[in-house]
Amino acid sequence: MTRLKLRITAAAERSVRSGHPWLFSESILEQNREGQPGEIAIVYDKKDKFLAAGLFDPDSPIRARILHVGRPTNIDDAWWSSRLESAIARRRSLFDDQTTGFRWINGESDGWPGLVLDRYGGTLVLKVYTAAWLPRLQEISGLIREGIGRAPKLGSVERIILRLSRNIQSTASRRWHRSDGEILHGPPLDEPIVFSETGLQFEADVLRGQKTGFFFDQRENRRKVGALAKGRSVLNAFSFTGGFSLYAARGGAVSVADLDISTHALEGGRRNFELNRCIPEVNKCRRTEIKADAFEWLKSNETERFDLIILDPPSLAKRESERNRAIQAYARLASAGIAHLEPDGILVACSCSAHVSSEEFFDAVRGAASKSRRKFHEMETTGHAPDHPATFKEAEYLKGIYLRF
Ligand code: SAH
Repeated sequence: MTRLKLRITAAAERSVRSGHPWLFSESILEQNREGQPGEIAIVYDKKDKFLAAGLFDPDSPIRARILHVGRPTNIDDAWWSSRLESAIARRRSLFDDQTTGFRWINGESDGWPGLVLDRYGGTLVLKVYTAAWLPRLQEISGLIREGIGRAPKLGSVERIILRLSRNIQSTASRRWHRSDGEILHGPPLDEPIVFSETGLQFEADVLRGQKTGFFFDQRENRRKVGALAKGRSVLNAFSFTGGFSLYAARGGAVSVADLDISTHALEGGRRNFELNRCIPEVNKCRRTEIKADAFEWLKSNETERFDLIILDPPSLAKRESERNRAIQAYARLASAGIAHLEPDGILVACSCSAHVSSEEFFDAVRGAASKSRRKFHEMETTGHAPDHPATFKEAEYLKGIYLRF
């Protein structure tokens, strides 16, 4: 078959040259033939010269995800291997053996558009967000085993699990007979995986859980919370796996309260806490659970006070049209949190909405703090963890702000 060739608009050409990894369907002016998911498409510039190579997906509005820009190159096994090497090299000095759960590959920002690889000890979870990867799964899984096998310090790959984003699940099953939670390599998995994060043990449901089973992206904020928690009573709102609570407990918090709307999440948090009872500080810390809507609970339990409150809600803006409402909701949530803070209390507010910018979010929380009429001081703001690089605007979603009152 002849190569798949694309010609694109001038604006898209500028965007690709500047390193943006997405080529939308409306930017494609000309295409020499129909393309299949996962084909390598060659993008030509207005002078008819090679501009870029991208992974093609005819069924996605992001029609091609750029793999390479610049001089013509062959996207072959050696090329993929060296891409993997770079992702591994980037993380080589980030973690010691106390942390066996982290992200190896963070999609576009690591040069692997629409693909995430998370490590949970010997189990790797490969999550794909575009059908373009589906015809290449065997190839990629072999490459990963070899690449990680070549670096013995990284541990061996016992198992690779496939996770599929919801939007590609039906195509995956119909066209490629692939399913969410399928084992690509290694033995079946009968129980939750237990892995270690900075020496704390956590359970993860890698077959069914959100994302790949755990929110590694909050590790650095959890660490900071651990360092701030000594002697404090802590409210962990939207607690999910109870990660923030465990770090706080290990850091010497006197009590932690997990607040979540989901029984399943609270039970997971409880099991994680039990897994770490061997740590004296954790064992000493009193843990309670509140099953409630966090917005409602904060509004209606006026007398409850805490020395440290973490607000880490799910994304409040799933699409651009929800942006303004989300900003208002973040401000309301921060106000409600601040009302429950003891004197000298600390508020840690986070947002994982890509549609709300860092500054919009920080300003919403700062505004809520000013409105409280209490004196406060901004300790710091945080962004992405080093194993979750974000190289373009749409990839930036996580931000946190720390205020002391
Ligand atoms: N802080 C967590 C991640 C939060 S994920 C961590 O560090 O890993 C979002 C969590 O919010 C989920 O557990 C979900 O059950 C919970 N949730 C969603 N809506 C909620 C609401 N209105 N009130 C309380 N919890 C909610």
